[in-house]
Amino acid sequence: MEALVKDVARILKDSRKTLALTGAGASTESGIPDYRSQGTGLWQKYNPMEKASVTALLSNPEEFYRFNLPRWSGYLQAKPNATHFALAKLEEKGLIYGIITQNIDGLHQRAGSKKVWEVHGHLRTCHCLECGRSYPFNELIEQFNQGVNPPKCFLCHGMLRPDVVLFEDPMSEDYYKALQEMKDCDTLVVVGSSLQVYPVADLPRLASRLVIINKEPTPWDYKAEVVVYEQAGRFLSELLKHLGEN
Ligand code: NAD
Repeated sequence: MEALVKDVARILKDSRKTLALTGAGASTESGIPDYRSQGTGLWQKYNPMEKASVTALLSNPEEFYRFNLPRWSGYLQAKPNATHFALAKLEEKGLIYGIITQNIDGLHQRAGSKKVWEVHGHLRTCHCLECGRSYPFNELIEQFNQGVNPPKCFLCHGMLRPDVVLFEDPMSEDYYKALQEMKDCDTLVVVGSSLQVYPVADLPRLASRLVIINKEPTPWDYKAEVVVYEQAGRFLSELLKHLGEN
């Protein structure tokens, strides 16, 4: 691992603008299961189109909320782990510019990261599908816990939906901002993503230099200058130590 740590440190120091691209694997060490890890990934057991798509929300909202709200509430209880803290420290040291994340759990910001593009949305708000009024995400949880399923808008009684990007949804504004940021980025460091969910999975194509830190192989490993098959938290902590931080 030592040689890989040195390689990644050298690349970060040489690079003018480095972005991190994180996925569910960045948060597994916080106790949030990812989707595609062999054996434990959620989508190994369930079909995402049946559970987390726009069709699922509109055709069977009660089941959509029964399945998704308890796990999303769990994300909100989770705490940032070594990966989140290390990436925040790298931003503070000017070694990464910001983070493009596919995660909706908000843990990068809670660890202190400042520039974060949440390309698949977040769990801070929800809105009414009829009148568009915005509510804090907690509104969904409170109504659901009081037996109101699906949760409703107080104004027009339309159904509320979370501000996360579901399968079949258009991409978020942050995705297009992230694409802009990629234009002058010379290094992309992928952390904990299977790189299988498009269009985000295509971002490595735009980077001139690529580093991948993921427990399992990804379709982009062939293009990467360094590939690290390790627990991200452990590797990034070693990287910080090497860079003179504990
Ligand atoms: P994914 O589940 O497809 O892939 C996660 C990858 O991370 C796997 O290849 C796995 O081997 C690797 N991994 C798991 N733990 C790791 C660790 N500790 N260190 C290094 N690698 C580790 O996830 P994805 O690529 O992000 O795509 C799935 C979609 O899942 C995303 O769109 C995201 O929105 C959503 N998601 C988000 C959360 C969250 O917000 N925390 C959780 C689950 C899924």
